[in-house]
Amino acid sequence: MQRPFKFHFLLIILSFFIYSCQDDVKQTVPENEQVKTIKLETKPKVFGFDLSNFEVVFDTVRRGETFGTIMDSHGVSPAKVYQITEGIPDSIMNFRRINSGKPYVLFKSKDSTQRVQHFVYQKSLIDYAVISLDSLKGQAKSKPVTIKQKSTSGVISSSLSAAIDEAGLDYLLTNRFADIYQWSVDFFRLQKGDQFKLIYKEKYIDDTIYAGLESIDAAVLKHRGREFYAFEFEVDSTTGRTDYFDENAKTLRKFFLKAPLKFNRISSRYTRRRFHPVQKRWKAHKGTDYAAGTGTPIWSTADGVVTKSSYTRGNGKYVKIRHTNKYSTQYLHMSRRAVKVGQYVKQGEIIGYVGQTGLATGPHVCYRFWVNGRQVDPYKQELPDAEPMKEELKPVYFDFIEPLKVKIDQVDYKSIL
Ligand SMILES: [Zn+2]
Repeated sequence: MQRPFKFHFLLIILSFFIYSCQDDVKQTVPENEQVKTIKLETKPKVFGFDLSNFEVVFDTVRRGETFGTIMDSHGVSPAKVYQITEGIPDSIMNFRRINSGKPYVLFKSKDSTQRVQHFVYQKSLIDYAVISLDSLKGQAKSKPVTIKQKSTSGVISSSLSAAIDEAGLDYLLTNRFADIYQWSVDFFRLQKGDQFKLIYKEKYIDDTIYAGLESIDAAVLKHRGREFYAFEFEVDSTTGRTDYFDENAKTLRKFFLKAPLKFNRISSRYTRRRFHPVQKRWKAHKGTDYAAGTGTPIWSTADGVVTKSSYTRGNGKYVKIRHTNKYSTQYLHMSRRAVKVGQYVKQGEIIGYVGQTGLATGPHVCYRFWVNGRQVDPYKQELPDAEPMKEELKPVYFDFIEPLKVKIDQVDYKSIL
């Protein structure tokens, strides 16, 4: 038998590429390839331009190329380039941020001069900028996106990410799924044979090109034969803020996050006695050390007010936050602090970045948890739930989840191999 692995460990493995991929729409085929084939076969227009009116060049930004060098190679004068880059705001097109690998399209005149009339730069599968050289105008545009709801199921053989991958699904699902259950981490130790079902939405351009995950609407995690439901529900109609609740409208959220960052590993737990790696002597370690790369954002584990944002020789740069009269938390060895004393912070808000200031042998955050002025091990505490759903929302919620629950219950679990 394989040992059950800890659920939060997944979060961690995934954390790094989530950071790097957040802005980018997932793609397996180069963007321009897709646009070329699909657009040309189905429509005579590309980015709103009638192809028959232009000499059209599809290309991709190569390493080291700039807007200027691209224009130059197509006969546009440096003076014109200057007028364009100075005149068009970054919000429409940031000319300094042209990335290699991104597709672009040139619309040239059909006459012998082959003058560049329009330049279209694809920022992502959805967003693009149109630069018109004659009028010196730019426009930021988006392709129409359709949303499709889908369902799936999987079984854990080695990890959730492997199961999602085996099902041929977007790896971003793993992260969202793990986020939903992140407050229950110690409770869920996923095991081989644990199953899950999901109802989720995907974005498509022109109905065919996959453009990323939109949302997870409902999830069930079956752990040791018990089912844990999660439904996404809008709790604030003015901000559109949503949250996840179970089939009884109980929040999945806790007052405290399990950890103050997406970490690589726990390098030292709370203990009354350990050999201090820097001071070379036995002493209590009244914190939990989470190892992570320098610069990893550190979050406040709960809402609160910053009571200290300071430096000492031992702690390095650190922040302390009071959450209630009873609870405070403290975060040490930061490379940089991001909050000031007196500032109000929300759960999950960035308060600083991982470093190794003070007495530290490597980049990590030492997380300290205070109850009534005494330091304790948060993993051994019975910690409060987050704010429950408002009573008046409950009837709306039950009506809302009813069809979703029927739907997800009809999805078959993938069988255990
Ligand atoms: Zn520590």
